[in-house]
Amino acid sequence: MSPPRKVDVDPDEQIVLREWRELIVENYEKDIARLEGMEDSVHGFHVEHALMDEKDTLRRFFHENPTRALELGSRIMREQFDQHNIPTRPVLRVVGLSKNYLNRVDELRMRDRNDLVCLDVKINEVSHPYGWLKLAIYECMDCESRVEVPQRRARERESPSLCRTCLHELMENYQKTDIPKRFIRPDSEFSMIVEECKYEDVQDISMSQITYNNEHHLINCSTRNQIVGTLTDDLVDQLEPSTYVRINGIVRVQPVPDRTFSKDTRRLLSIDILSVEELHIED
Ligand SMILES: [Zn+2]
Repeated sequence: MSPPRKVDVDPDEQIVLREWRELIVENYEKDIARLEGMEDSVHGFHVEHALMDEKDTLRRFFHENPTRALELGSRIMREQFDQHNIPTRPVLRVVGLSKNYLNRVDELRMRDRNDLVCLDVKINEVSHPYGWLKLAIYECMDCESRVEVPQRRARERESPSLCRTCLHELMENYQKTDIPKRFIRPDSEFSMIVEECKYEDVQDISMSQITYNNEHHLINCSTRNQIVGTLTDDLVDQLEPSTYVRINGIVRVQPVPDRTFSKDTRRLLSIDILSVEELHIED
């Protein structure tokens, strides 16, 4: 197996990692210690957004690139779980986002893609849980180097096009000849190592925008302003239809589900749900 690829963390991200570590150790060390002995395979760990707001770089970074900020935070949480010998995989569930993230379904547009939003909604439908291939592991049939290829949900599975190890070897051998480099290309063939691939549990939901007054009495539940969302890991099976919740998530763009050809360019907005907070609303 080839050595793991070097993970690039730029100087800004170094600060983010440091601030995540401070935040988690200062505020959540006791909560983590209490999880020792837990046997679940995955655990959603609540992190208060207000604490992230106190860290200058993390606050900005989470706002600009929430997906990456959470990846870096998960790395620190993983490290803290390891220190307490907890084999469970932690998932960061940021809760209590500032009011300025509160949006309405009808306000969301394509330009909001990858942005952080909170929506107050009524849950309509919740699908059966299913899994998808999140990370495919391939092996070069020539040199046996392994390659990881992250996949996208509801898209065609992607496989590596050429083997870097084989390419490198070819380059070295050709160095003393005058064959132009652009003609050097290994005849790579890969096989997928099914057992090593990583899968994720998910559930699709549909939800409707709600409005309510200061006394938390429902004013309206919109039949027009609906959006779909995806729950993952520990959130699967946690939501019931007809309940009122605030969902915190990241806006994504998805192909339409019933497309009849793979290059269909039509897209829908959806929400990758980061956390769910109960709303006490009276009908
Ligand atoms: Zn190879």
